[in-house]
Amino acid sequence: MKLQYLGTAAAEGVPSLFCRCDKCVKARERGGREIRSRSQAIVNDCLLIDFPSDTFSHCNEYGIDLSKVNNCIITHVHGDHTFPWELHHLRRGNSVLPEDYEGFHLFGSEDILGRFDAPYNQTNGRLRLHTVLPFQPFELCGMRITALKAKHGTANPYFYMIEDGGLAILYAHDTEFFSEETWEYLKDSGVKFSLVSLDCTGGAAEHIEKYSHMYLGENKKCRNKLIELGLADENTVFVLNHFSHNGLNVNYKELCEIVNSLGFEVSYDGMEIIC
Ligand SMILES: [Zn+2]
Ligand SMILES: [Zn+2]
Ligand SMILES: [Zn+2]
Repeated sequence: MKLQYLGTAAAEGVPSLFCRCDKCVKARERGGREIRSRSQAIVNDCLLIDFPSDTFSHCNEYGIDLSKVNNCIITHVHGDHTFPWELHHLRRGNSVLPEDYEGFHLFGSEDILGRFDAPYNQTNGRLRLHTVLPFQPFELCGMRITALKAKHGTANPYFYMIEDGGLAILYAHDTEFFSEETWEYLKDSGVKFSLVSLDCTGGAAEHIEKYSHMYLGENKKCRNKLIELGLADENTVFVLNHFSHNGLNVNYKELCEIVNSLGFEVSYDGMEIIC
């Protein structure tokens, strides 16, 4: 399986447009892997995860032709993961597509129905919305997708488990440490993850009180529990992702120095993991 990170930041991106904090200043000076756009990934070049405002630049930067990518799974309705405006361009007049175009299909919890109503109503059936239930696997692009319940402050947020043959990816953004219900499902799933991507919005912090994301302290706890339950092992690649300039030591260089020796990789825009 291949997962490519297209965007690796939380809401504002890094550097945040109007910000002069030390992390944003460093990111502007250094460029390269320090520059992070809003959250999006693509699996096996055919399944998008999330649809943020940076989708336009991601497609151009990484050579993705969206007229040929037909499926996108949505984690939740925060603006750094869903940006409905761009989907208006599916309209006739904005896009020339063949008569047998199979549509652009968005999958997510019932929350997406309200969020994407406007483009849905204006694109003559080219945009298709599908609500999926948590813990009910479904097939897309030859892969098995399962929505898991996230803890994140929106009504029905998900994160996803994606399986292909004997391989499996856990893409866990945006969420706090998983709920008991999700752990129970994972425990009984019999899955062994080859790649686990964990929310690290809080950066290298060991503890943050009342937080709707994770941080290094919880990432370590999460990895330990995945290994303890047999869901991961020493061959599993753990990647930290979804960064905010408000997190602790989140500049790429500094974070790598802290977490690489602990066995975590740090995502960057464009990073590809083959697992
Ligand atoms: Zn986010
Ligand atoms: Zn900043
Ligand atoms: Zn969010």
